[in-house]
Amino acid sequence: MSVQNVLKLIKDNNIEWVDFRFVDLLGRAHHISLPAAEVDEATFENGVAFDGSSITGFRGIEESDMVMMPDTESVFIDPFTAHPTLNIMCNIHTPDGERYDRDPRSIAQKAEEYLQKSGVGTAAYFAPESEFFIFDDVRFETGINKSYFEVDSEEAFWNTARKEEGGNLGFKVRQKGGYVPVQPVDTQQDIRSEMCRLLMESGLRIERHHHEVATAGQGEINFRFDTLTKTADNLMKYKYIVHNTARQYGKVATFMPKPLFGDNGSGMHVHQSIFNGDTPLFYEKGGYANLSDLAMYYIGGILHHAPALIAITNPSTNSFKRLVPGYEAPVNLVFSKGNRSAAIRIPVAAVTPKGCRIEFRTPDSTANPYLAFAAMLLAGLDGIKNKLDPRALGYGPFDKNIYELSDAEKAEIRSVPGTLDEALDALEADHAFLTESGVFSEDFIKNYIELKRAEAKSVSIRIHPHEYSLYFDC
Ligand code: GLU
Ligand code: MG
Ligand code: MG
Repeated sequence: MSVQNVLKLIKDNNIEWVDFRFVDLLGRAHHISLPAAEVDEATFENGVAFDGSSITGFRGIEESDMVMMPDTESVFIDPFTAHPTLNIMCNIHTPDGERYDRDPRSIAQKAEEYLQKSGVGTAAYFAPESEFFIFDDVRFETGINKSYFEVDSEEAFWNTARKEEGGNLGFKVRQKGGYVPVQPVDTQQDIRSEMCRLLMESGLRIERHHHEVATAGQGEINFRFDTLTKTADNLMKYKYIVHNTARQYGKVATFMPKPLFGDNGSGMHVHQSIFNGDTPLFYEKGGYANLSDLAMYYIGGILHHAPALIAITNPSTNSFKRLVPGYEAPVNLVFSKGNRSAAIRIPVAAVTPKGCRIEFRTPDSTANPYLAFAAMLLAGLDGIKNKLDPRALGYGPFDKNIYELSDAEKAEIRSVPGTLDEALDALEADHAFLTESGVFSEDFIKNYIELKRAEAKSVSIRIHPHEYSLYFDC
């Protein structure tokens, strides 16, 4: 959209505030609002200044001035503000007008530019399935009591205090039985439909919504694929609208990967493919799951770099509490058609040549989408460049239920890292696939690892409620 059209949109919709947003290293959005009357062509040319030293992971206090440069393609009218407000996503520039090398959105754009320069294709498409819980209340009890949300037995489940006006009316989601039961078991139909209405009004194309497997009210909304940076923008919009719609209903939505021990976690499976113009490059009739060699190498790149990649796609200590066997979250670094226990699944039901894609199931929504999509694309491109065939490298295909293999068979299979620190070790040892192209800088990787190590440490030095159960009576 041209600047003129944005200014017209502001006038036609009686917009009072223009909200300039950017995304930090951790994937959280921040914003500064300007009166609409103060926004003109010069605002789009010069950007909006902010203090970069106050944002986690950005600049030091001695070089704090940064500039938000608005991207007119990303505008949408905020559905939640009482005063009509237009939201615009921005890139971050240094005062000299350079793209800031720690700006996640600039990194995403550089990854797209690199794809085109590489000659492999013209566009990579992404579609994340970002799951979430909707809770009535957040009341974590700490200390000697069990966590409020801990559901580790049938009894605990029935005793879980879900707020219910008018008494306990039954029709509860059974343990791990949340996958698509109708109402009254599904109590979240209307809230998800309202989320979708607002998402569509804000420009997303919604494909479907449904209740997910977990017991305590888990949902998923799928929106249509798009190119890399656009999909990351869409995901930010998605999380904003899911969080705020829940708040309007007096509830709380969380994308935390594993809020409940003993129940399914929330993943962010990412479907991805590469096109050259109109030609889908992942499709070749007759290959395994109708995949081309190029798609195979892309899979090889993702699986080969997975331990390091996961430091970016699963960047929280909580991420690794989801990546355990038995909850449809992948643990094994293999690929397969259909099999949901594999890190990479190739969807085969109702797939057209253009819809031919791979699904990387490991990521979760604590990932910064700009960094995660960029890193996955670079891993895949590295696989294509070096012809990393996942079959020759021992990554499958694996079409059995991996959870049910014998120990000898399991020993053949590599696993995802067990902790954030392990993933960070892997990233430290293997990041040339991210930096060689210039998409990620060495400074970025160093700073990211430092930040995340400190985060892991901040968790490990705290006393966990479960330690009371294990050790209090020693
Ligand atoms: N919730 C599962 C996960 O943590 C995925 C369930 C599904 O296949 O959609 O990845
Ligand atoms: Mg799902
Ligand atoms: Mg999926």
